[in-house]
Amino acid sequence: MTNFDLSPEQDQLREAVRALGRRYGHRYFVEKAKAGEHTTELWHEAGRLGYLGVNIPTEYGGGGGGITELAIVCEELAAAGCPLLLLVVSPAIAATVIHRHGTEEQRKRHLPGLADGSQKIVFAITEPEAGSNFHRLATVARRDGDDWLLSGRKCYISGVDEAQHVLVVARTEDAATGKLKPALFLVPTDAPGMTRSKLDMEIVSPENQFLLYLDDVRLPADALVGESLDAGLPALFAGLNPERITVAAMGAGTGRYAIERATEYTATRAVWGGRTIGTHQGVSHPLAHAAVQVELARLMIQKAAALYDAGRDLEAGVAGNMAKYASSEAAALAVDTAVQALGGAGMTTEYGVATLLGAVRASRIAPVSREMILNFVAQHILGQDKSY
Ligand SMILES: Cc1cc2nc3c(=O)[nH]c(=O)nc-3n(C[C@H](O)[C@H](O)[C@H](O)COP(=O)(O)OP(=O)(O)OC[C@H]3O[C@@H](n4cnc5c(N)ncnc54)[C@H](O)[C@@H]3O)c2cc1C
Repeated sequence: MTNFDLSPEQDQLREAVRALGRRYGHRYFVEKAKAGEHTTELWHEAGRLGYLGVNIPTEYGGGGGGITELAIVCEELAAAGCPLLLLVVSPAIAATVIHRHGTEEQRKRHLPGLADGSQKIVFAITEPEAGSNFHRLATVARRDGDDWLLSGRKCYISGVDEAQHVLVVARTEDAATGKLKPALFLVPTDAPGMTRSKLDMEIVSPENQFLLYLDDVRLPADALVGESLDAGLPALFAGLNPERITVAAMGAGTGRYAIERATEYTATRAVWGGRTIGTHQGVSHPLAHAAVQVELARLMIQKAAALYDAGRDLEAGVAGNMAKYASSEAAALAVDTAVQALGGAGMTTEYGVATLLGAVRASRIAPVSREMILNFVAQHILGQDKSY
């Protein structure tokens, strides 16, 4: 029989992260967000306890696990009301890209700090003009002697104010075809020529989004990820599966959190005679429906992570996209349903569910929109032609 159980170590990890998340909780997360501060204490404690580096090899200071373990960390912190978006960019994308495609020198320089949480690397691919179509990326990397010069604009980049480096996706021209040849660069956040402006977003989150302007940012040769320009495309793709799987895990955790808040409330709130509102099927069925959707998404996340950790990248790509789609939809449904079940209390800050509306709505757009996932499934699974 297929085994759906976690290993004893994974079970322990889940319990331990759950306990850590609950010690901080959603109130802490919201207070930090509203004060314009970051969840620094939680991040550092998670780093010290080894949770941020679970997927990083032990020789670089990590736990030697895989994306299954990192997905557990993302899900459990979110289930405690602390959906930390930077888990998706720093340990999931950046650590994977550097581990799989960086030079040995880059691994030694960056992975230990990512593992213990002392360093954050955020990820910049989205551009104002290119949007969902990364073939139109216009951030250009030019050689100048041994150095590189980077120019372009990036938008919605999360966590630049908290990070030491930004992993920037730029284009170099393929000498043979003239087509996009992506190249990834590790750019220090204080590099001369790189400026940022914070975007006002309607999301209650301690993590911020930025516009980034790169104006002939001069970088040494070893800022290029990998030994040569040929590392660019595989490095870019290496980050995608971990990104999709961990963002899905965060969504599943958020869905669980919202359903838990709602069911605690509906099991005790009584407004007609002695019956609690949870006895009305008009209240309990939508919550049950959302719980089914969240559980289905969790199953797909488990499958995607298992395929990824088994090195089956192509199958993990299909499962990871499906998991991300299912999970964002389930999380958005769960939070909306929870708000409805709580009535007026659902819209208060105190009950801690409406505070997640913006985040779950955004998860249907970023890091890849539901439409682009449906395009992927339509083309690659259903064999349909592209419309674009
Ligand atoms: C909270 C948040 C955090 C983010 N963090 C980061 C980050 O850290 N780093 C980073 O690089 N980016 C980040 N992003 C950007 C995010 O990845 C993009 O917003 C997303 O990829 C969509 O791109 P776009 O906003 O340009 O939408 P557009 O590409 O302009 O698309 C607009 C709408 O049209 C739809 N659409 C476009 N093309 C098609 C098509 N061919 N078929 C069907 N529908 C289509 C889209 O699905 C979408 O609904 C973040 C965004 C948000 C909201």
